[in-house]
Amino acid sequence: MKRIEPRHLQVQVLVVGGGIAGLSAARTLAEEGSEFLVVEEYPFLGGQYLRNREGYRPRDTRTRRRGFKLLDWALERDEFWTSSLVLGCYTENGERQVAVSRGGEVFLIRPGKMIIATGAREKFLPFPGWTLPGVVSVGAVQALIKTSGTLPGREGIFAGTGPFLLASAHEFKKAGGRVAGIFELNSRGRAMSFMPFLLDGEKLREGMKYLLSLGNRLKFGWRVERVEKKGDGLEVRLVKGRKRHRAVVDFLAIGHGFSPNTELAQLCGCPVEYSAGLGGFVVKTGEDLGCGYGIYACGEVTGIGGARKSLIEGRIAALSALGKKVPSALLKRRERELRFARALNTVFSVPSHLWKEIPDETVICRCEDVTMGDIKKAVKEGFYLLRELKETTRITMGNCQGRTCFPILTEYLRSSGISPQPMSVRPPVKPVEMGIFVSR
Ligand SMILES: Cc1cc2nc3c(=O)[nH]c(=O)nc-3n(C[C@H](O)[C@H](O)[C@H](O)COP(=O)(O)OP(=O)(O)OC[C@H]3O[C@@H](n4cnc5c(N)ncnc54)[C@H](O)[C@@H]3O)c2cc1C
Repeated sequence: MKRIEPRHLQVQVLVVGGGIAGLSAARTLAEEGSEFLVVEEYPFLGGQYLRNREGYRPRDTRTRRRGFKLLDWALERDEFWTSSLVLGCYTENGERQVAVSRGGEVFLIRPGKMIIATGAREKFLPFPGWTLPGVVSVGAVQALIKTSGTLPGREGIFAGTGPFLLASAHEFKKAGGRVAGIFELNSRGRAMSFMPFLLDGEKLREGMKYLLSLGNRLKFGWRVERVEKKGDGLEVRLVKGRKRHRAVVDFLAIGHGFSPNTELAQLCGCPVEYSAGLGGFVVKTGEDLGCGYGIYACGEVTGIGGARKSLIEGRIAALSALGKKVPSALLKRRERELRFARALNTVFSVPSHLWKEIPDETVICRCEDVTMGDIKKAVKEGFYLLRELKETTRITMGNCQGRTCFPILTEYLRSSGISPQPMSVRPPVKPVEMGIFVSR
């Protein structure tokens, strides 16, 4: 085996993540005349919000119009590395180096400043059968339709909590699918308490569009009890108090909000804190979005709040990284988006008792086949620190490195009165092939 020597690079500002937050930061850096490089894991730029078939540009909201304008600007430039994964941060002789895997090679980049815009992933409340083929995430349904126009089936149920259920179901219906039902976990009254936060033109219009198209399919207060295979489809059983509902459909799409991707920021030394109102563990920053060591964070990674928050924060992070004064109007707009974020994550949260009621046979960690029963048993025996739970059950130790099960474990422990501890992370931030480090 021979070690492959990495290539070395230096850049004034390194931006990790080419979603709307990263694009917004890059645009500001360019406007200020700074040298920069954006590294994006996916083969395309735009992240979750601007993900679309090539050349397709829906411009139905102001934020989407602004987003696609940024994307078109970025596509004309050379400073954007797609299909490139940031693996981690290292310090050598007191200097920070960021390792990037790109095209079968490793690059070691020494950035003057760094902006972390790594976005978020989906979160789930598991139930027996959630690992069956045909149970998909609401994000996956949307991604499939947006990128290839493919439907996951002819007829589906959407269940979970939050406005994203409606957005995904709307996309599915528009593409010719049949929505058998949208089952929101929270009550109608609770969901209605979110209305005052929609009272700005753009979000209200978007909400109304979904309600007009799907309002008659939307039911409140229901949760999925279990799912079983039935012929070529799935039998979905739902429950609301004493009421029961059963349906056989091609697929079930689930989603219970989002959880920030804080792993890379943690590897770089940024502090994280748990904030239920911001969607779970978030990167802790000052008002300038700095988290120390010349690192700044922006977008979903500082709290789940949607694309407009990401746009604003990208700009703030870039100005701060360059040592420029951030206009107070921009900081005020961020405050408004944070109020929206807190309302969103609070109103559309999973009621605490439901985490404790996950049946014992339910698989929690899909990579290592750890069940809820395994976790409850370990906690009962006194192992409730993350390290102890890892050692006794192997939870979070599989290929996905805890991306799906860690938020579930956190919420279960919280509902049992145990304060959440951040995930322990180590490089590489995602699995990579050995071949990029050594050759025969
Ligand atoms: C599946 C999904 C679907 C969504 N759909 C919508 C929607 O339709 N409408 C809406 O309003 N909001 C949607 N959201 C919420 C959405 O995340 C925000 O509105 C907005 O896109 C956030 O922008 P961002 O730049 O902060 O994050 P993102 O858009 O998530 O961008 C982060 C980028 O960082 C990259 N990245 C992460 N880690 C690394 C690494 N180590 N190295 C290199 N690159 C890395 C990711 O590949 C990603 O492209 C969705 C979220 C998810 C998770």
